Amino acid sequence: MAENVQTPETQQFEYKAEMKQLLNLIINSLYTHPEIFLRELISNASDALNKARFRSLTDKDMLGGDAALQITINVDSEKKTFTIEDSGIGMKHDELVERLGTVASSGTLEFLNTLQDKGEQKVGDMIGQFGVGFYSVFMVADEVSVETRHGDADSKGYRWQSDGKGTFSIEEIEREERGTKISFTLKEGSAEFADEYRIKSIIKKYSNFVEFPIFLGEEKVNTVRALWHEPKDQIKDEEYSEFYKFVSNDFSDPLGRLHFSIEGSVNFKALLFVPGSSMHRSYGWHNEKTVHLYSNKVFIQDDCKDLLPEYLHFVKGVVDTEDLPLNVSREVTQNSPVMTKINQVISGRVLGLLEEWADNDKENFDRFYKAFGAPFALGVNTDYGNRDKIINLLRFQSSRLAPGELTGLKAYVERMPEDQSEIYYLAGEHRETMTNNPNLEYFRKNDIEVLLLTDPVDIMVMPGIDKFDEKPLKSIEKADIDVSGKQQDDDKEQLNEELSESLLKVFKETLGEVVEDVRASKRLVDSPVTLVVGKEGMDVHVERMMKMMDQNYSGAKKILEVNLGHPLIKNLSRIHLANQDSDTLKPYVQQLYDSALLLEGNLNSPSDFVARMASIMEEATKG
Ligand code: ADP
Ligand code: MG
Repeated sequence: MAENVQTPETQQFEYKAEMKQLLNLIINSLYTHPEIFLRELISNASDALNKARFRSLTDKDMLGGDAALQITINVDSEKKTFTIEDSGIGMKHDELVERLGTVASSGTLEFLNTLQDKGEQKVGDMIGQFGVGFYSVFMVADEVSVETRHGDADSKGYRWQSDGKGTFSIEEIEREERGTKISFTLKEGSAEFADEYRIKSIIKKYSNFVEFPIFLGEEKVNTVRALWHEPKDQIKDEEYSEFYKFVSNDFSDPLGRLHFSIEGSVNFKALLFVPGSSMHRSYGWHNEKTVHLYSNKVFIQDDCKDLLPEYLHFVKGVVDTEDLPLNVSREVTQNSPVMTKINQVISGRVLGLLEEWADNDKENFDRFYKAFGAPFALGVNTDYGNRDKIINLLRFQSSRLAPGELTGLKAYVERMPEDQSEIYYLAGEHRETMTNNPNLEYFRKNDIEVLLLTDPVDIMVMPGIDKFDEKPLKSIEKADIDVSGKQQDDDKEQLNEELSESLLKVFKETLGEVVEDVRASKRLVDSPVTLVVGKEGMDVHVERMMKMMDQNYSGAKKILEVNLGHPLIKNLSRIHLANQDSDTLKPYVQQLYDSALLLEGNLNSPSDFVARMASIMEEATKG
């Protein structure tokens, strides 16, 4: 709060700049779904009711200890007024200032900015998923009043008021009951939300599964169904879908679901969904909700991250178990063996579902992989128990396939000719630049398939997979790949051994310590030289990423491979033969080395490169 002007009864506060920005965005971007304001208010009321219920377990003196836990909505279509009241935990003075005065999470603001910059069309849909929360009320009201009293026995009542633009005020009021009442007059164009029928249908749509009764006037509107406790054959697809939208805040249907019950050493029921898309990940969003934990239909925790390993955090839904103590804290759940066991069972089930799609429903699997493939792949490094299953489910682009089409390792191996013993891959940022990589020439010429790793995550995963189906995985940028079996180029005559040796020696002398070695190449077809990584070195692409992160990181030395059948190299040999002075070749060798660096994106001194090029051209054009 930038300013805090004190008057005897009412305190005035000013929103921070970023808060104003957020409000502005919400009001101007959410117009596609203004009705979600109701979902947000109901969800806050439900959170507050859960907190009150939880507290009543331990605090016998809580204010209004015997009040019914419920939500009441009243509308007046004449006066265009709307109120929603809950008997939840309420808010203290500080909470009013902090919770209703600042952005709930900095990620929200960042995300909204990204969207705004990108001019995203579906911004309304997406914000809906993130639950921007309380402030969505300013889409339908110009001024909002919040009256509240906290459950502490000695709490006081307060009224918070704001126009949602620059300032808000807080004053002390008389209030008997615990809980919160939010009221406002609907602004022009939003009168529909004073209509009972409309409100009822919105509650049905977004909040049907809220576990506290929602009254509209005298009538209870929601179902309060714990779907996961019901037998599968009594639940319709639409009901599942509706429930998914309720737990995930998604507007679209899920890709698939798992509904099961486990009895034995651990007991639980689960209703889980795989969403059809992820907006969150692609914008670096990490606050997304995962799975809610219940104990015999009573809500314990939302977003219980320990129920699933991180690489499966795209899964949404509910897990209900009575094997955990009711008053679990996050720390307890984290370390409990019950949690570990549940986590294992769920991981197995989710992987089973994905395997089934991979085998029988490629379309679903590809949609899943496009949405969540990157975080999923990291499971190879973290879930050792399921490592082989995960590796089997990895997908990559390939030199054999059309851009965008994906293949797994199993399918690659099935396509391998008998005399191929290794699995090859190349990592890079874009498929187009990768196909120009000189190191691919040999493979293209001999029609050997190379997996094209375009996702940075693949590089964090691939080097850790030593072998698949007994076949070693090799980066084609490594020096030790087995390319000797085939002829690399039969139509071009190579330099003889003596000439080669003496030419390679000049290369070595010129480049000196800069390279690990200079060798004759077996893999080049059209290019004169290429750089490959020695046994100890890292993939070129990985190295470039490391350099981006650490300016001082210089990387391991590379091996320069020379194509002894290339006309340019033969010309150099001829010049060398005629003129044994090794300095003559120096600029050419330097230029070839720099070109190879340039191709892999590692040329640090373009000015030297350009100057040398100019002088070589000058020489060549001299009449
Ligand atoms: P979120 O629900 O994601 O925390 P909101 O913007 O919806 O974000 O709400 C901000 C905060 O305001 C809540 O976390 C809660 O502390 C407080 N709050 C909002 N509505 C209520 C309510 N009806 N009762 C008690 N606290 C509330
Ligand atoms: Mg909320």
